[in-house]
This record gives sequence, structure tokens and C-alpha cells, in this order.
Amino acid sequence: MSKKGIQSMNIHEYQAKEVLRRYGVATLRGKVANSAEEALKVAQDMGGNLWVVKAQIHAGGRGKGGGVKIAKTVEEVKTLAGKMIGMNLVTHQTGPEGKQVQKVYIEEGCNIAKEYYVACLVDRVTGRVTVMASAEGGVDIEEVAAERPEAIVKVIVDPATGLMPYQARHLAFQIGLPAESVNKATQFFVGLYKAFIDCDCSIAEINPLVLTKEGQVLALDAKMNFDSNALFRHPDIMEYRDLTEEDPTEVEASKYDLAFIKLDGSIGCLVNGAGLAMATLDIIKLHGSTPANFLDVGGGASKEKVTAAFKIILKDPNVKGILVNIFGGIMNCETLALGVVMAVKEIGMSIPLVVRMEGTNVAKGKEAFAKSNLNITVAENLSDAAEKAVALTKK
Ligand code: ADP
Ligand code: MG
Repeated sequence: MSKKGIQSMNIHEYQAKEVLRRYGVATLRGKVANSAEEALKVAQDMGGNLWVVKAQIHAGGRGKGGGVKIAKTVEEVKTLAGKMIGMNLVTHQTGPEGKQVQKVYIEEGCNIAKEYYVACLVDRVTGRVTVMASAEGGVDIEEVAAERPEAIVKVIVDPATGLMPYQARHLAFQIGLPAESVNKATQFFVGLYKAFIDCDCSIAEINPLVLTKEGQVLALDAKMNFDSNALFRHPDIMEYRDLTEEDPTEVEASKYDLAFIKLDGSIGCLVNGAGLAMATLDIIKLHGSTPANFLDVGGGASKEKVTAAFKIILKDPNVKGILVNIFGGIMNCETLALGVVMAVKEIGMSIPLVVRMEGTNVAKGKEAFAKSNLNITVAENLSDAAEKAVALTKK
């Protein structure tokens, strides 16, 4: 699996709950279902008199979009699951195109007394894991953070000790959990932190964490993302990867070890090095257009890699032209130029191509372009390249 293709791997709610249960984080009973019939069977086996049918997609905000529904009978579970599976669910996190629901999670219902928020994440300022909690759960935490930052309580964790029980108790009291539930909340927070560390998470977020009328403290929703650079240590978590949830072009790029992120502009970018790629996006904007993607081919881009990169960029119908921006430090400009020429010939590209190259063997690289008889614009410098790419794609 590529380190570069995905920076952080997301999993479904039902999978995150499977992980969390192993760390003593309390959840309700539930099971995933792939069809209405399966959903009915799950609800019958589970028993009880209240079920919740939850769409499993890699995005939050499902409740508001119609992806979380309560059922009072097993027949209702079946009907709701049948409607939900196959539906295109649009939430504020999916973008306007939405996501197709492939499976649903059938969970027992509970009597919510109050909804809270808790998450573990890496705080870049202190460089430490921070546990954040709030009495304002179930809603968009970004909104709370922007409007009432004082409503969010934080503790910074010393990596040598891990989250201490006194810190967990402090969080519980600060968000106003009743005294008789504090011990349960402490076990919950310590378990969540342990899961975060053990699994090399980039985020573990419970929104909402609920207090039930019976005094239980439960994870009603769960979002876990994992640092891709550490995934090799977790083959069991890798099993959870759901390629149908990822952008197909990004999946394709990860096969070639290309760091690719799709954007919505019109100039395709092929760059070596993440910093240079960011600068390329900026300068395209500065000259009045928008980039179609971020693409870092890395240090030693082979002809095969360059060809794959071109093909991936060209799959996007919005792309009106391509800007190649290479600094030949590790990479030799001549090798790159030959790779680009071969790739363009193989693909038979018809849109404008602007190349800016600098570094090792740059003269020979430019010569290779000149000899190719292809319609390639070689730019003088980065600014010139952006200007030319913008001009050629605005025609
Ligand atoms: P999302 O964040 O994607 O909207 P959640 O899992 O947070 O999805 O569910 C949305 C809301 O639905 C929760 O805030 C809670 O009020 C309710 N809910 C979710 N699961 C259950 C459950 N098992 N029992 C009762 N209510 C639930
Ligand atoms: Mg939620």
C-alpha cells in the first residue's frame, strides 16, 4: 500500500465502534447490513423495541441529510434500510454530489438525556495529543469552536504518562456530566485515548457522546482516521479500507505511488515535491486561474510514472491545459523531458502543455522538447509558466 496515495485513512462508524469496544469504550449493540432483508434479520436477532438505521458513508452530518432514522418495529427497520441502501446521501461533508449508501448499521435505540462531544487529535502548536470535550455535542463542533470557543475544554496529554485518570475526570466535570457518571466517563475517555495511540489515529471523534436517562455514557457516533504512514503496522485496520468511498482517481494514483488530490479548477499540474506543488497551485491562482489538481510525482519519477500521471490528470474533463513544473535535483531534467515526450506521444494529447524545468541537465531537457516536434511550450521561469498556462487555457 502506498504511503503517498492517502494521507489519512477513514473508516465507517460501525468499524470505528468495533475498534473502540476493544478499548472499553461503551457503545450500543449493533450490526451492519447490506440489504433490507439482512437489516430485518439483524433487528430480529437483536430484539428490543427501538432501532436506529444509520447510513454508512465516509461523511458526517448524516442525520440532517436523512441518513439516520428511528424504527419502532422490525418491519420499519426493513423499509427504512431498503430506502436508504442505494440512495444518494447529501450532507454538508459529502459535497453537493453526495455519496451512494452501500450499507446500513442497525443499532439499538437509547433514551438520550444529553449529547456531548469528545475527540482526541494532534495539536500542532504543542505537538501533543489533545483531548477536547464539550457540553455542546451532536452539533457541528467547528461552529462551536468559531462562535463560543470557551464551550470547548481541552487537556494536553504528556506522551510519557498518557491520559491520566485525573485529567479524564477534570474533562468530565468541566463539561458538566453528573457526578454519578464521572467514573464511566473516565473509563470512556481513557479508552478512547488508548485506542487513538495504539491505532496511530490522526483523529478519533465521538459526536455525540451521550448520557442516557439510565446514566450510561455511550459513543453514539464514532469517527476514526488513521495516519497512512503508520498503517503498515495495522493490517487489521487496513482491512477496513473501503475503496468505494475514496475518489477513484486518487485510488488509481496511489497504485503508482503518486500523491494526487483532485481540485475543481481547469489547469492540471504535474510537479515534483509537495512544497513546489503548493507553490504551483498558488501561482496559478495569482495569475487568475484555478488548479485542477495537486500532483506530486516524487523524487525519482520514471517514464511510467509520468505517463500514469498524465493519464490521471487527463481523466478530468475540466482540465483545459497542463502545467509541468519540475526542479531537477534528484531528478534529471533530460530523463523527465524524454518521459513527458513519450507520455504525450502515447496518449495523443490535444490540450496545451506548458513546461517549466530547472536544475540538473536542464539544457539537454529543453533540447529534448525542441527535437520532439510536439506542441509544448517551454517557459522561462515559474511565473512565466503560470502566465502562459493561464493564457493558453483561457482561449
Ligand atoms: P451524523 O453525525 O452523521 O448525523 P450520528 O450518529 O451523530 O450521525 O447521529 C445523528 C443523531 O441521531 C445523534 O445526534 C442522535 O441524536 C441520534 N442517534 C444516533 N444514533 C442513535 C441511537 N442509537 N439511539 C438514539 N438516537 C441516536
Ligand atoms: Mg455525529
